This record gives sequence, C-alpha cells and structure tokens, in this order.
Amino acid sequence: MTNKKEQQDVLWHSIDISEGLTKLTTNATKGLSEQEADDRLSRYGENVLPEKKKESKLLRFFKHFNDILIYILLIAAVVTAVLGHWVDTIVIIIVAVVNACIGFFQENKAEKALEDIKKMLSHTAQVIRDGKRIEISASHLAIGDLAMLHPGDKIPADLRLIKSDNLRIEESALTGESVPSQKTVHPVPADTPLGDRSNMAFSTTTVSAGTGLGIVVATGQDTEIGKINRMMSDVKLITTPLLRQTANFGKSVSFVIIAIAVLVFIFGHFYRHYDTGELLMSVIGLAIAAIPEGLPAILSIILAIGVQNMAKRKAIVRTLPSVETLGSVAVICSDKTGTLTKNEMTVKTLVTANSLFDVTGTGYSPAGEILKDGTKADLISEPVLDTLIGGFYICNEASLGKDDDDNWYIKGDPTEGALITLYEKSPVDHHETDRIATIPFDSEYKYMATLVEADNENIIYIKGAPDRLLSMAEKQYTIEGESLFDKKYWESKITSLAANGQRVIGGAYKKVSKDKKDLHHEDLYEGITFLGLAGIIDPPREEAIAAIKQCKEAGITVKMITGDHIETAKSIGREMGIGDGMKALEGKDIELMSDEELESAALEYNIFARTSPEHKLRLVKALQARNIICAMTGDGVNDAPALKKADVGIAMGIKGTEVTKDAAEMVLADDNFSTIAAAVEEGRRVYDNLKKTILFILPTNGAESFLIIASILFGTLMPLTPIQILWVNMVTSVTISLALAFEKLEPETMKRPPRSPKTPLLDGYFIWRILFVSILIGGGTLLLNLYLLNKGVSEEIVKTVTIQTIVITQMFHLFNSRSIRKSAFSGDFFGNKAVFVVSGLLILLQLSITYIPFMNNVFGTVMLPLHFWLYPFLFGLGIFIIVEIEKLVMRKISNRL
Ligand code: ATP
Repeated sequence: MTNKKEQQDVLWHSIDISEGLTKLTTNATKGLSEQEADDRLSRYGENVLPEKKKESKLLRFFKHFNDILIYILLIAAVVTAVLGHWVDTIVIIIVAVVNACIGFFQENKAEKALEDIKKMLSHTAQVIRDGKRIEISASHLAIGDLAMLHPGDKIPADLRLIKSDNLRIEESALTGESVPSQKTVHPVPADTPLGDRSNMAFSTTTVSAGTGLGIVVATGQDTEIGKINRMMSDVKLITTPLLRQTANFGKSVSFVIIAIAVLVFIFGHFYRHYDTGELLMSVIGLAIAAIPEGLPAILSIILAIGVQNMAKRKAIVRTLPSVETLGSVAVICSDKTGTLTKNEMTVKTLVTANSLFDVTGTGYSPAGEILKDGTKADLISEPVLDTLIGGFYICNEASLGKDDDDNWYIKGDPTEGALITLYEKSPVDHHETDRIATIPFDSEYKYMATLVEADNENIIYIKGAPDRLLSMAEKQYTIEGESLFDKKYWESKITSLAANGQRVIGGAYKKVSKDKKDLHHEDLYEGITFLGLAGIIDPPREEAIAAIKQCKEAGITVKMITGDHIETAKSIGREMGIGDGMKALEGKDIELMSDEELESAALEYNIFARTSPEHKLRLVKALQARNIICAMTGDGVNDAPALKKADVGIAMGIKGTEVTKDAAEMVLADDNFSTIAAAVEEGRRVYDNLKKTILFILPTNGAESFLIIASILFGTLMPLTPIQILWVNMVTSVTISLALAFEKLEPETMKRPPRSPKTPLLDGYFIWRILFVSILIGGGTLLLNLYLLNKGVSEEIVKTVTIQTIVITQMFHLFNSRSIRKSAFSGDFFGNKAVFVVSGLLILLQLSITYIPFMNNVFGTVMLPLHFWLYPFLFGLGIFIIVEIEKLVMRKISNRL
C-alpha cells in the first residue's frame, strides 16, 4: 500500500475500481487477510472519531453551585460571618461544598452509566477478510477492507463502492440533503462535489435501501465526517420530567422560604423584640432547615441505578427520561417475528400446483426428508418441487454453518436460513449458479428477487409474501409445464397453512433474455410464473407468553404489528394471548381509513397483519391522539420514523439496524418481548422509589421549619442552631434516604394500571402526608422540648435531645416510607438490606455527634446521659405507629370510595 499521505491525496471517486484496488493492495473478492488488516490497524490507528471535547472537570464542579438553594446557603454563610459566628460560616460552606461534591459525583456516576451503555451499543461492520464474511467492531476496520452494506446500516468508514444493487444512501448527516442518493460504481470527474460523488459512501451516513460492497479508503479522523469533526452523540438527555419537576419545585420552595423568613424576621423584630443578631441566626436556621439540599442528588442516583438494573436485564436505555416514561406505558406494540416468536424457522410444508409435501427435521440442521403421502418424495418425478426449492436457494442471502460444538447455525435472515436448510435436505443442486443482480428483501415490497444466468436465457427467481406474488403472477408451473394461473387454489392453500400458524413464503420465476444484466421492481410487473409455497413454523417464545400475561395484569395492552399473513398472525396471537385471536386488521384496511377511523380501530384491534412500516407510524399517531402512552418495537430502516414518534421507541439489538437503534429510546439486547415487560417493571419500581424518597425527605425539612417557626412565634427557646440543622439535613438525606433506591418492587406494582403521565408529582395525598408528618414530628418535638425545659433540663441537653429526636424519628419514618400506602410489614420486611445498613450507620453518626468531644465543640452538642435516649426512641416509635394507623385509615377510606 502507498503511504498514508499519498493515500489521503487520492481522489478515490475519480479513479477506476481496478486502479483503486491496486493502490490499496487489496482484492475485490477476498478482501484483506486478517494479518494484513491487523498490520494496517497498528500502523494507521483504529477507525474511531475523536471524542467530543468535554467541559473541564472544574467547570462542571462549579456548575453545582449555580442553584438557587445553594445561593441561599451562601448568603446564610455571609450573614453568619458578618455576625461573627465563624463556626457556623465554616460549616455552612462545608455543606455547600459537600453538596456540590455529591452532585458532581452523582453526575459522573450517571454519565458513567450512560458511557457503559454507549459501549454496549458500539457499531459493527460486516467485512470480507480471507474470502470469508465476518462481523467486526467498526473500530477495527482497516484501509483496504471490503465492507458489505445492507439497508439500515450506518456506513462505518469512507468507502469507494465496487458493487451497488439498487443502493441508496441517506447523506443528510454530511450534506444536509435528506433525499437518499442513488449509488453506482462508475468513476466521476475529480471536481465533483461531495454530495454528487455517486460511487462513494461516507462514514456515519445510512443505507436506506439496496445492498452494496465498498473498499475502505479513509477511517476515523481522515473520513469526511472526521474532517468536519462532527460527532454523532449516541446517548442524550440526562434530565427527566420528574427531575425537572423536582428542580422547579425546589425553586418555588426557595421563594416561599425567603418570603416566610422575611415575615418571621419582621414578626420577631417588631412584636417579640428579639435581639437582631439572634433573630437573624434563627431566620437563617429556618432557611437552611427548609432547603432539601440532598434531594436532587438522591433522585439522579436512583435513576442511574435504574438504568444499570435495566441494562442487567438486557434493556439498554439510551435516554434517562424513558426510565420514567416506561413506567407509564399503556400500550406496547410489538413485532411478531423474533420478538414474540423464537425466530428459529423450520420449513414444515411445501405446496405445488399438483401436490403437498411434508418436511421432517427441526431447527437448522439439514437432517430430514421431504415426504409425499408419508413416503420419501422422488424429485425426478417432481420437477416443480425441484425448481421451487432451487429458486428458494438461489434467491437467498443467508448461509448455513456448523460451530465448534457441531451445532448448525445460520448467518443472515432466519426465514432465508430455513430455506437453505430445506435445500440441503433435498437432492436439488444449484450450488454453482452465477447471480447477476438482486433486489434484496424489503418489508415495504415484501419480496426478494435474484437474476441468474441459465443455459439459453436468464432467469429471475422471486420469493416473498405469497399474496404479493399472487397479485403479480400470470401463470403457474405444473408437472405438465406452464399452465393457466389458478388463484383460488393458491388462496385456499395459503389460508389453510397460515391458519395453522405457519409463516408462508411463495416462490416464482420469470424467464428473461440472455442480455438482461440488471434488475428493477418494474421487471416483475408481468410475465411471472408461480411455483409454489413453503409453510414455515416459528414457535412462540414461552417467556413472551408469560410476559404478555404479566402486562395484562398491569393494565398494559399488547398489540401485535406484523408483516405476516393475517391468519398466521391470528393463530400466533391466539396461542400467545394477544387479543381474542379472532379480530385482526390488515394493512390494506388501514390504508382505507381516515385518521379518525384509525383512532378507534387502533383501540379496538390488537392484531395488525400485512402491515408496512408507514402503518406503524399511523398507528402510533392514532394511539397518541387518544392520549395513550405507547411503546413501539422495530428493526428495519423504515421503522425509524414510527420509533421516533412513539413515546418509547424500542429497537432490536440483534436484528435491528443501526438506523433503528439511533432512533430508539431503548435497545433490547436479546430482541425478546419479555425484556420489554421487565423494563416496564423496572420503570415502575424506579418511579415508585423516586416518590418514596421525596415522601421521606421532605418531612425532615417540613418538621424543622415548623419547629423553628413555632418557636419564634411562641417565643420559646430556639430549638436548633443552623449548623445543627445542617447536620440533621445532611445525615437524613445523604445516608438514609439512599436506602430507598434499593427498595424492591412491591408485588402489586405490576397489578395496577399504568400511571397517567398527567399525574402531578405531588398529588393531594402526597401533600397531605408531607404536611401531616412534618407537623407531627415538628409539633411533637416542640412539645417534648417544652416538657424537658419545664422539668429543668439544661438547654444544651434539650438541643442534643432535639437533634436525636428528629434524626431517629426519621429513621423510623424510613420504614413507614418503604411503602407509600401499604403497611410497613406488608412486603418482604428484610428484603432491602440497605435499610438496615443505613439505620446502623445513622446510629453510629448520632453517637459520634454526641460522644466525640470535637463534634461536641463544633455542633454545640453535649454528652447525653443514657436515659435521655429513651425520648427519641419512644418518640420515633410513636410516630411510626401513628403513620401506620394513618395509612390504614386512608386505605379503608379509599377502599370505600
Ligand atoms: P414482523 O413485522 O412481526 O417482524 P415479519 O417478519 O413476518 O413480521 P416482514 O419481515 O415484513 O414481517 O415479512 C412479511 C412477509 O414477507 C412474510 O410473511 C413472508 O411471507 C415474506 N418474507 C419475509 N422474509 C422474507 C425474505 N427474506 N424473502 C422473501 N420473503 C420474505
């Protein structure tokens, strides 16, 4: 190969293919050898684009101070400093810094989770090396590699095309032109602008139709996209609706806090005639008490843990908000093949114009026979069958292989794999046939065609959805030769195979003249001779059947949207529990409907057959018009618009194309429907835990604020100093509330209907509970203070008891919060170990602030005589019991309603 500089200077689009191959010392059929590819990789580097420049760590750290809640803390620090309360100033600043550290740490953790997921989504490329088709990570592509292109692929590097079968590429990422450009292999003038270089395929653009083969001429930074340094970001959006709602809530709280603080100051100053300095300290205490500093950080950690859990369950979430949206999904529209079914196809039946055949054997192993009336069929007397099986083999892009453990496997589309296995079971021999041109399978057209050389003429073999081929066929092939087409006969055969749940593929051919060298859809409009049918079984996935049942219980409707025959779809639907197994709508019916008609049909029907990708898009729109949150699966390039439109677009990780994955919110690593149900379950768990955390944290702030306001209004002792308040807040929000992130799914979570997305974060019951618990803890602590003061207990001891009372009561309240409405003992009480670990940790922290002399000095606490511990524990237990009784009463009331 020429050196890198020289190679970069070549205008690849203007030279001949053979010249290009020579310059890159590669071969048009065998590609590079593994050894050569490795050498070139180590010489010229990997095929990766430079990472987007990240904001500096320092800047990202300081961004965490840019928050109104922190501003209030910082103002408090300044005021305390002016008043000469240095210890308070230092502690407040420490808290602000600790808070920023936690926020920074959380953000990194969330980003790390998304980074890891990005790696799971890394691109692959299909190349030919040493004459073999293999799949490699796109980063391992070397200059001179032969890359194969299929619909939906993201082009992995800059390529000079050497083969194009109706190849069309969407290049808007590079040229801004959204109409796909048709590609050829002929050289174009050297000065042709980028958008018109029809023999080139550029990195990160996408194949919208057809197939092709290209030589890698530039990788990584040297590609056109690398030169303009535009990195396609794979994982986006780190905020979610709930986080935004909480942030807004925080802002509103701050304004209310400021207003109340001012009012309290005015009241204390003019009516109670407090000392200004002391009063200011109390008002600062109030502001600090009311700020839920830890809340944003805790919420984002819960989401990040949710994303990681989903990834463990094979659901790769690309955008954080979809973790929440998943929890409110009401309809899941799923593909059939491979998602609900196993995608392990076996041909079971063959039908020609004269006879019916059974095929024995299972899976892709070519062990089996073709039987006619129970005995082995004689292919010599069945020329039609011979041509049908041969046609299925020729018009095919899959290949059959055996792994090291002697298991048969296929490469390519399983439907096509099943037809290769069928061919291998039969004595038919077409191995050496020369293929001239192909129209690859496309779920829009639902057929595939291949033009091959024959003796005196050329032949186009076609295979596809039989009803598609029926409408194109003019004749049929029988033992007596070509004869009149008997449409009725074929229709009845198709229906009976499909009604047994078999996937039906039709085969046909057309003879053309010897000089025909290219193939277009128009070539198939007339002169087609029908050959016969293959009935393929594709068993349902057991786990998908269970997941559909689970979805039903969770109030989620599962709809099957398939390209398959209506009878096949109904039969599989019946077997899996989708719809009633009787009602189904076809793509052609959808086409006749207005948008309004489709809205009610989308609700009424659960099975949609013979659909094409644009029907999917219309169905999503129809469901959304009825305010239904819907998830939609897809794999093909044309599914991308429907996935983008759906509330949760779900792409298949194995079968899916790069374009679909890019458009999706979630990627299924195993293509399995049950993974969607698992993700919905996790989504609901995360949302519940977010709510439980909010319900737990806010009463701490509420109780403290209540206590301070009441103390100022009644003119009693200030219950806590600002730094004591900060201690209480940090200890409760940073340690114990984290435990709720690990709370398990409550059993009835998947038994209740999906949450309406309109439900506000803090509904009426929530606000009531927060106020109720705040007043209970705040008011109770105030009474306890008064009682102790009356008994002549010293102020220091009372303050220390107050800290213990609030914190320990929150520890008890944590157990209340483990279920929002149900009894604390209703679930698996010991199921969440984190709750017990943090409770232990909390007690240690509380002991340290009470018995370590240094902590006594900083926080103004004293060493409590042992019997004073009785108050916080009894008080906490009391609150725990009262809240449980409240939940019981509320349950009774709501049961009656
Ligand atoms: P789903 O949309 O649920 O994945 P599907 O895979 O059956 O269902 P399509 O891929 O659109 O949907 O296939 C529709 C029909 O096209 C099939 O019923 C079959 O008759 C035919 N078909 C499928 N794959 C091929 C193929 N590789 N070549 C020719 N015809 C095919």
